[in-house]
Amino acid sequence: MNCPCGLQLAYAECCQPLHDFYKFADSAEHLMRSRFAAFYLKNVDYIIKTTAPAQQDLLDKNELQAWADGMSWQNLTVKSHNKVGKRHAQVHFVAQFISRDGKTGEHDERSAFVCVDNRWYFLDPTVPVSLTNKQPCLCGSGEKFKACCGKFL
Ligand SMILES: [Zn+2]
Ligand SMILES: [Zn+2]
Repeated sequence: MNCPCGLQLAYAECCQPLHDFYKFADSAEHLMRSRFAAFYLKNVDYIIKTTAPAQQDLLDKNELQAWADGMSWQNLTVKSHNKVGKRHAQVHFVAQFISRDGKTGEHDERSAFVCVDNRWYFLDPTVPVSLTNKQPCLCGSGEKFKACCGKFL
C-alpha cells in the first residue's frame, strides 16, 4: 500500500519502520508526516511516543483514541518546513478529513518540533506546562525553558 503520509512510497519503505520504532524520523517534516499516517491508521501509541517525553504522561490515551477513531483522514499537504535555531523546526501543513458526522473539513496547522538526542518530538501546545521560564526545559536540552521550547508553547 502507498504510505498515507503523502510521500509517493510504499508504506513498508516509508512510515512503517518509524511506526515500528525500527527507524527514527530524520527530519521534523518526516516525523510530522509519520504522525499524520499514524492518525490515519488510528495508531495512537505512536502519537503519544512521538510527543515531547515530558508531555507524554499528560496525554489522555482514551480521549485521543476516541478522537482518532471518529476521524477519517484523507490527505496531507506540507506547505513549509523551517528549521528554527539549533534544535527546533516548524512544519505548516493542511490535512483533509471527514468527521464522524460525514462532514469534510481541513485542518491547517503550524506545528513545532524539537530534536533531542537525534530524535524529533512534537511539542503539543494543548498540554498544560507548569514550568517557569527559568526552569530547565521539558525537552531535556539543559537550556532554560524560556530560551528553548517555551518559545513554542
Ligand atoms: Zn510515509
Ligand atoms: Zn526545550
